[in-house]
Amino acid sequence: MSWQQRIEQVLHQRQQQGLLRRRSAVTLSPQARLTHGDQLFTHFSSNDYLGLSQHPAVIEAWCSGARKWGTGAGASGHVTGYSPSHEQLEQTLAQWLDFPRALLFSSGFAANQALVFALAESSDTLIADKLMHASLQEAAALSPARYRRFPHNSLTGLVRQLAATESENRLVITEGVFSMDGDQAPLAAISEHCRAHQAWLMVDDAHGIGVIGEEGRGSCAQQQVKPDILVVTFGKALGVSGAAVLCSAEVAEYLEQQARHLIYSTALPAAQADAVLASIAIVRQQPEYRQRLSGNITLFRQQCLHHGIALTDSQTAIQPVIIGDNHQALAVADKLKSAGHWIQAIRPPTVPPGSARLRITLSAAHSERQIAELVEALRHAL
Ligand SMILES: *Cc1c(COP(=O)(O)O)cnc(C)c1O
Repeated sequence: MSWQQRIEQVLHQRQQQGLLRRRSAVTLSPQARLTHGDQLFTHFSSNDYLGLSQHPAVIEAWCSGARKWGTGAGASGHVTGYSPSHEQLEQTLAQWLDFPRALLFSSGFAANQALVFALAESSDTLIADKLMHASLQEAAALSPARYRRFPHNSLTGLVRQLAATESENRLVITEGVFSMDGDQAPLAAISEHCRAHQAWLMVDDAHGIGVIGEEGRGSCAQQQVKPDILVVTFGKALGVSGAAVLCSAEVAEYLEQQARHLIYSTALPAAQADAVLASIAIVRQQPEYRQRLSGNITLFRQQCLHHGIALTDSQTAIQPVIIGDNHQALAVADKLKSAGHWIQAIRPPTVPPGSARLRITLSAAHSERQIAELVEALRHAL
């Protein structure tokens, strides 16, 4: 089949199965508002859990950073793209999260891929939770290492895989908070099993950093776990973009030699590093953002319970409403949109087949009234 035919066939199939993905150009604004065309919505689809992408101090840090450093870093950090702001951000992250070193990457996707490709050789084994993020699934599948998966959050499944592999080097990979389900990994138990089997543990805490635990240090700190490698991203609760790998001094130095996404890619702008620093300062010093978010989660769950709307056990900002069928999930999302609520229907392959869902995300920026209106609209739409 020619490329042209294959492309047309894929698009046609996607369309028929209700799986065609399309982007909409939207304008985000404070108080969890969004405009599309000339219509105003409240949005419940963002990972900006604390509303920091709209925070005046974060915006000002980025603007004044751009005036100081210019807009782009101009080169990889290995050439001239590494500034005192990058250095300060790495030191702040290492101190905040209590690791010897932090290394910046331009995205979480790049950080995950770089780590797997830099570490894994053919004699090694990667063991990951089945619901691990696409960036890791893909890197693990492409890497020369053996790749094994265990059922989501299953300790027995993990132990079975650990016992079944003889590689000297085994890397167990999981997330702090799972992006589509909002549930948390049993990190303390996972960490113990890793230690017992002399495997390394890598935790991707993209959805935990900033929102969970004291000073927003994330899932690992909350469960008093120190993984060998921690990945945090800046595009979610921190409201900016970019990512960091937290690790030992030796691993950091090894990555500086081997991580291709670091060496052959333009560093994130210094002004962006300034914005992330401003955001981290707010996260650490102002627990009221986390308190407001946690109040909103409780309120949403109480009101859904009251109206008989079925939720999962998730206690985090990610509150999925499982619909099942793809077309039905789209129809419910459309109804909510007509009522002024912007919510994404998430369909396979992002989630397992038959589990299409509304991925509702709550933020500290939502008011009680916005949440009450959402629950009312949900009740009607369902
Ligand atoms: C969003 C996400 C990433 C990717 O991070 P970006 O900085 O957006 O590229 C990686 N892992 C998980 C679990 C995520 O949710």
